[in-house]
Amino acid sequence: MDKSIKTYMSQAIDIIKNSKKIYIASHIQPDGDNIGSTLALGMALKKMDKDVSLIKVDHIPKDYLFLPNIELIKEYDITENVDTFIALDSSDMDRLGVGKHFALKANNIINIDHHISNTNFGHINIVSPTSAATGELVYKLINEIGIDMDKDIATCLYTAISTDTGSFMYSNTTYITHLIASKLLQKGIDIERININLYQSRSLERTKLFINCLNSLELFMDNKIGMVAVTQQMLKENNASMEDTEGVVSFIRDIDSVEVAVLLKEMKYDEIKISLRSKKTVDVSKICTKFNGGGHKKAAGCTIYNDISKAKKLILDEIMMALGD
Ligand code: AMP
Ligand code: MN
Ligand code: MN
Repeated sequence: MDKSIKTYMSQAIDIIKNSKKIYIASHIQPDGDNIGSTLALGMALKKMDKDVSLIKVDHIPKDYLFLPNIELIKEYDITENVDTFIALDSSDMDRLGVGKHFALKANNIINIDHHISNTNFGHINIVSPTSAATGELVYKLINEIGIDMDKDIATCLYTAISTDTGSFMYSNTTYITHLIASKLLQKGIDIERININLYQSRSLERTKLFINCLNSLELFMDNKIGMVAVTQQMLKENNASMEDTEGVVSFIRDIDSVEVAVLLKEMKYDEIKISLRSKKTVDVSKICTKFNGGGHKKAAGCTIYNDISKAKKLILDEIMMALGD
């Protein structure tokens, strides 16, 4: 383990050991890494007899409802009494949604993340952009504390790592990722059940939306840019919700000529959430940072507060510039 990460972890462990009331939260529009890491750390700290609360900051997508103890993630009233707040997988405080209010009340903030754009907002920052998932860092932390990694914790961590690596396929996957995955398999997790829940349970509504999305594909710059837009109208027509767009953007990136894939999600008329994925050269995190977003080199996001046609133009101009470099 990186020496500075090890040092920060031991400082975090001291703080955790001396804390009674701990809150954990992750970012809005949650994903598998976020939910899996939150549950795993929550279960581990409960084994230390800590009073730990997992804050629900946003709607939990259906895909993750199979995870053990998912009901532990719930809404809490803001309180004065927060010894320690642990932020997971969140590159800045605003991404925490309501969790930010708990963070601001806390005596200590421990920030555990793997986004290159992390702002180091914690008192202790365990930030490692070379980790494939926050789940890898949570795995190491649980081991460093010396808590027994049971099957439920392992299931959540495997989900965290599998989802953030595109089933161990993306370039963020390292030998350490596989070492950790093998340790998790040793705990007797049911990967058939996990994989069916994560990757083979697409609803018919989601499938129809997917087809609709693919029909709206636009290509630019000799097919190097692939763009898909999902409007509220398309959701209505397919009886689907925005979380059903999961997987669309990586599918577009899989087209042989595509270097940058763009998905525009019309959350509201003038609020467009953008997901970018790149294949080899373009740093999409840099592009998203220009719009107050962030992420990783090959997977990033931001929100543009404009109508969908203006948002398309704004993001396209930036991508074209990046590809022209
Ligand atoms: P998404 O396209 O929403 O799946 O996000 C891709 C990656 O970028 C994930 O690691 C997100 O956590 C991160 N990300 C998405 N939106 C933002 C944002 N507004 N600010 C910072 N990071 C983001
Ligand atoms: Mn995430
Ligand atoms: Mn992550």
